[in-house]
Amino acid sequence: MRGLVTKSTGSWYVVLSEDNQRIECRIKGKFRTKGIKTTNPVAVGDWVHYEMEPEQQSGIITHLEPRKNYIIRKSVNLSKQAQIIGANLDQAVLVVTLASPPTSLGFIDRFLVTAEAYDIPAVLVFNKLDLFSEEGLEILQDYTTMYEEIGYPCYTVSAQKGTHIEELRNLLKDKITVVSGHSGVGKSTLINAIEPAASLKTGEISGWSDKGKHTTTFAEMIDLSFGGKLIDTPGIRELGIVDIEQQELSHFFPEMRSRLNQCRFNNCRHINEPGCVIMEAVENGDIEPSRYDSYLSIYNNQDTRV
Ligand code: GDP
Repeated sequence: MRGLVTKSTGSWYVVLSEDNQRIECRIKGKFRTKGIKTTNPVAVGDWVHYEMEPEQQSGIITHLEPRKNYIIRKSVNLSKQAQIIGANLDQAVLVVTLASPPTSLGFIDRFLVTAEAYDIPAVLVFNKLDLFSEEGLEILQDYTTMYEEIGYPCYTVSAQKGTHIEELRNLLKDKITVVSGHSGVGKSTLINAIEPAASLKTGEISGWSDKGKHTTTFAEMIDLSFGGKLIDTPGIRELGIVDIEQQELSHFFPEMRSRLNQCRFNNCRHINEPGCVIMEAVENGDIEPSRYDSYLSIYNNQDTRV
């Protein structure tokens, strides 16, 4: 029998069968993800085959179907293992806000680079629209224009007031979407506004201890009553980790990618080389300075998190 994994704890899993039953399952045999050691061999979003255990309500996962993509984070136990946060994602939504507490552009760009590296379409949702004065709205408009021109759809919403929530429902309908955002942006309030049955707790700093260590929260899928599923990632501010070689980085900035083979040197780092079309585009205003700053800071391996 075939089913979709909707919860994964590393030792047991919830599988949604094709006739909509939720079945607790264990794993039999070894499941490997190429290139990494994982704490949870099977993840939320995976399609699996399973058998029912004789005379029991539970099942055993026997086969994992190939994934179209997946995202990981470092494991809680500081070993070299990674935890798979989710698989087979259609899109990644980052909830951000320009107010209380503001999300930095560096944080947004880091998320977008990770999404590019994972090959998952990314969308930005700017929350707390109700807090903005006219001047604030202009800045917001500048940001959304900048990201939309690069190719990232942007939504401006107020989770609290319920503004533009219907547009978000259209975005999420019939898709599997991973939702991220740093604490306090209103992610839980937003998910509750989109799907009141989700009833997530709001106003809690969850998932991170004082020392910033990951806690043992596991991702879970939220069913959307209008079609589609959300993967909430409690305690995960970023989309996971991915190793990017310095010389590959510019490929994950779409506005750089389209210009790359025009630099004088084909190993151009876009830092101080003569004949660099990327630096020229920044000077001409064709590439946003904030995006180029993010490129440099990720290149130099600086932490751009807020
Ligand atoms: P999370 O940590 O991202 O899940 O954030 P929460 O959903 O817990 O919200 C953090 C705080 O922001 C709470 O006090 C919410 O009431 C508030 N908040 C969430 N959405 C909005 C919004 O659209 N407007 C305003 N003004 N406050 C909001």
